[in-house]
Amino acid sequence: MARALYPGTFDPIHNGHIDIAVRASELFDEVILAIYDAPPKKLLFSTDARFELARQALEHVPNVSIVTYTGLTVECARDYKVDVIVRGLRNVADFEYEQQIGWANSNLAPEIELCCLFCSNEYAYLSATILKEVASLGGDCSAWAPPHVLEALSAKLDRPIYSGTPKIYLRHEDKLVHRD
Ligand code: ADP
Repeated sequence: MARALYPGTFDPIHNGHIDIAVRASELFDEVILAIYDAPPKKLLFSTDARFELARQALEHVPNVSIVTYTGLTVECARDYKVDVIVRGLRNVADFEYEQQIGWANSNLAPEIELCCLFCSNEYAYLSATILKEVASLGGDCSAWAPPHVLEALSAKLDRPIYSGTPKIYLRHEDKLVHRD
């Protein structure tokens, strides 16, 4: 029985994260999505809120559970007796970062394997940072996160969820004009 840990900040969880968690759940018997409670970056959501958003996002997947942790990821991995740490890769920058963290983790805990999954095409450029930025400016994020996450963002940012009708653009005398 193979058990995997999927660690991260998840501030908040989005469709790219969910895609990796679901795909990992098809590869491993059990996946533990572990929310790091105090990363060295400014967070929008509390640990409890990030936990609840992730819990709701993955409640339909029976072999995925959500935990929070503090301290070293490898210590969390040992506490939960996992065989593998799963991470998602979007690009070369992610690869280089994961390579360094993976090197450190394999020195600290050589018994734990690293499994990096390439993200799906539709989420290749999606990050929690982009999601928060676009949401804070009132843009349409409906393809990037589940409705309950969009609602939480809207409440946190004190901004209504995007509800505009997309504009239709037409070419007129070599200019793009939008039709009302
Ligand atoms: P970090 O753990 O570096 O703070 P996140 O919490 O945002 O970053 O992401 C957790 C994990 O999910 C990381 O492995 C990250 O590469 C991966 N991830 C982030 N965004 C995406 C995406 N759009 N598609 C697939 N994986 C992603």
